[in-house]
Amino acid sequence: MIIFNLLCDNGHRFEGWFASGDAFRDQQARQLVQCTYCQTSSVTQLPSGPHVRRGGVATAQDRNISAAADGTTAAAPLAQADAVQNFFQALAVMARQADNVGDRLAEEARRIHYKEAPARNIRGIATAEETRELLDEGIMVLPAPVPPESETH
Ligand SMILES: [Zn+2]
Repeated sequence: MIIFNLLCDNGHRFEGWFASGDAFRDQQARQLVQCTYCQTSSVTQLPSGPHVRRGGVATAQDRNISAAADGTTAAAPLAQADAVQNFFQALAVMARQADNVGDRLAEEARRIHYKEAPARNIRGIATAEETRELLDEGIMVLPAPVPPESETH
C-alpha cells in the first residue's frame, strides 16, 4: 500500500491510498481519483516526503503548494491530516458493522439503491469498472483499503 499526497485544482490537500504507483496512474487516467473535499477528479500528485516549508531552497512547485496550503491558516494542513485520520477511523468502524457481501458488492448496492433490498451499509469487493458504473448511476460507493483481517473480527 502506497500513500500519495494529492492536490486538487481547488487547492485541497489530501492523501490517497493505492496498491502501487501504477494503480494510482491508472485510476487517475480514468478520473477515479477524486478530491476528498470537493470531489473533483482534477487531482495531481505532490512529491512525497516531508516538505521544507520555510526553507530558502524551495522549488517553484513547492512554492505553489505552499501558497495553496497557506490560503487559510498555517494550521490547516495539520487539521486536514487529523480529519483524514478520523475519516479512516470512522470508515473502519463502519466497515466492521457493514454487511459483507463479498464480490456481490455492485449487485447488492444496485438492489439497495433501487429499493429491491433493505437499506443498510454493505462492504465488499468491486472492480474499478464496477465502481465507476455505480458512481455513474448515482450510487454512493467509497473505494477504500481493506482493513487488516484482525480488525474485522
Ligand atoms: Zn478539492
